[in-house]
Order: sequence, then structure tokens, then C-alpha cells
Amino acid sequence: MYKKISTGKITVGEKLLVKLMTKEIIGDIEKVKIICPEDCGLINISMSTSDGENFLDVEIKDTSIFYPRNWSVSTQKYTNVNVANDQSNVLRADRYLSYGNILIEILGKIEGDSIDNIELIYKTEQPLEFVNKEEAVTSDTEGVYNPVHDPRRKDIKEYLNKTFMNIAKEETEHNKSLVIDVNKAQDRMDSIIDIIAKALYHKKFKGIDKKTSDQIKNYIVKALREGKTLSQVMKYIRSKGIDEQQAENIARTESHAVQTTVREWSYKQTDPDGEFLYKWIGPDDFRTSKLCTTIKSRTQNGVKLDELKNIIEEESKKELGDSWEVRGFNPHINCRHNFIRYFD
Ligand SMILES: [Zn+2]
Repeated sequence: MYKKISTGKITVGEKLLVKLMTKEIIGDIEKVKIICPEDCGLINISMSTSDGENFLDVEIKDTSIFYPRNWSVSTQKYTNVNVANDQSNVLRADRYLSYGNILIEILGKIEGDSIDNIELIYKTEQPLEFVNKEEAVTSDTEGVYNPVHDPRRKDIKEYLNKTFMNIAKEETEHNKSLVIDVNKAQDRMDSIIDIIAKALYHKKFKGIDKKTSDQIKNYIVKALREGKTLSQVMKYIRSKGIDEQQAENIARTESHAVQTTVREWSYKQTDPDGEFLYKWIGPDDFRTSKLCTTIKSRTQNGVKLDELKNIIEEESKKELGDSWEVRGFNPHINCRHNFIRYFD
């Protein structure tokens, strides 16, 4: 469902700068239309999400539409209303997410510069009555997480569904007599989405503030959903001023945690009795850990899913010490390994 908010006429005063805060906006930012009078001067307009992410920073002199997307600002502009409607690349690209009030800053050149209206169109799947401060709390507030109204769930769900459908397809291609109740599995998705979202968002990254941590996590889930590469994720993390090594650690470790949880859940739907065999796979090169080499060799002829999990925990503790906390199928940070079905 698309919604629109309007600012009405804005005129800059002596200080030339006007700052406005919108009401709370929860959803994907679709477009921004700036309506100018005949002669509005040259006005700079900047908009940021409540996370402090600047999603629009433009100079305008006539009525314009902008499609803020996660790419360079220079390509976001389409002057006049009609041109924009068939820009399919714009329609497919990454939207910015808003989880709160949007800050609009208007900077004029001379006192009296004005614009007639700013319209911000955003997409939300929530009925209006649910969008209020109490219910829209996300992990921006430390320790508080309200899953039902979190738009992040949508990205996790899409990624989960995609992975599950691929695994279900692979299984039924291999075993024609296997019947997978897709609808039933999809009905059960909500509880695992809660678990993933809680595990992912409940704490921030070391040395990085909570807001930036959440932005990075949002991007990682989106990247998984859209099949972006690891280097794209790392580039995004580095754009937040994080050094290369930590960017790689975060990108690999967090993607791996979400991927393996989603795979485990999907396989549990296709193999509810835990009877199928799985093996640990991944690259063999100078970076491969001793630990993953051992897990690979111990699972090369296939083991049951529970056993695989035990082996990972066992080898990981052997290598990293008993105090090492194993997160599901994550034997160590920066892991590049994953599990697949073993068919003999
Ligand atoms: Zn590994």
C-alpha cells in the first residue's frame, strides 16, 4: 500500500535554512516529488531517515521527482512527472527503509526562496491504525523488539521463502515420491522469522553504534534476498567508515549465520524426521581453516543434520576452546562453508 505525506508550502527566512521533521514513516521510500512555483530560485533539499542515513541531497530549480535508491544520487532525478513512470531500473532498485521520522532540510539562496510542496511517497504493508509509536518499536531501542510490525521481516521472509522453495524443488526432483506441503511450511515461517530477526538485531557490532549496526544488518538481509555478492556487501559496510578487515568479518559472519539458519529450517521442512544425510562443503585453499577441513572430511559420506551440528560444535570447541560459543552452524568467524544434502 502506498502512502503519501505532504509538507505544504515552505519559505526560507533570514537564516535561509528550514528544518522539518515528518511524522513517523515506516516503510520503503518510493519517491519524492518537489513542486516549485514559477521561480523558486536554486534550493538545496536534503532528507535523512531517523537512522541518520542521507537518502536525498539535491539542488533543484523546478518541479522534480526523485527516486532515492541505494546508488549515486546523480541518477535519481527525473524532471516532469511522466518520464519517471517507466524507469524500470529505478523500480527494481534498492529502496531506502524508514523506521521513524524523516528529517527534511531546505536551504535557499536568498530570503523568500520557496517551494510549494514536498510529497514523499512510501510503501507500507501495514494498515494505518497499527503505525503508532508504541507498536512501531524496533531494535532502535536497545533490547526491545516488536516483531509483528517490523518491516525487516519482509526481507527475511522473502529470502527464507526463496531458499525453502529451492530446497523443496531440489528434494522433489531427487525423490519423486516425496510430498512437501509448501503451504503448511509457509504458514510456519513466522516463528523462524522471529528467531532470525531477534538473533540478528538484538545486539550491535563491536565498536559500531546501534543505528549503523542495524543499517548494516538490514543491508545484509536485503543482499541475501537479492542475491548480491559478498563484495557488494563489504563495499556497503566500508561506506559506513568501517575498515576492510572488520567489513569482511561482518559480511561473512552475519550472512553465514542467516544463511545457515534459513537452510536448517528449510531442510527441517523437507526432512521432518531428520533422516536425510548432509555434508559440509566449501572452498579448499590457503584460507580454509583446519577446523572446516576436518568437518568436511568427517561428513564426506553424509551425516544426519543433528549429527552435523554436533560435529561442528565438537570441532569448533576443540580448535577454539570450550568457551567459544558456537552459533548453530557457524564454526568460526569468516566461515565460507555451508551444508548441502548428500545424495549417494
Ligand atoms: Zn569455515
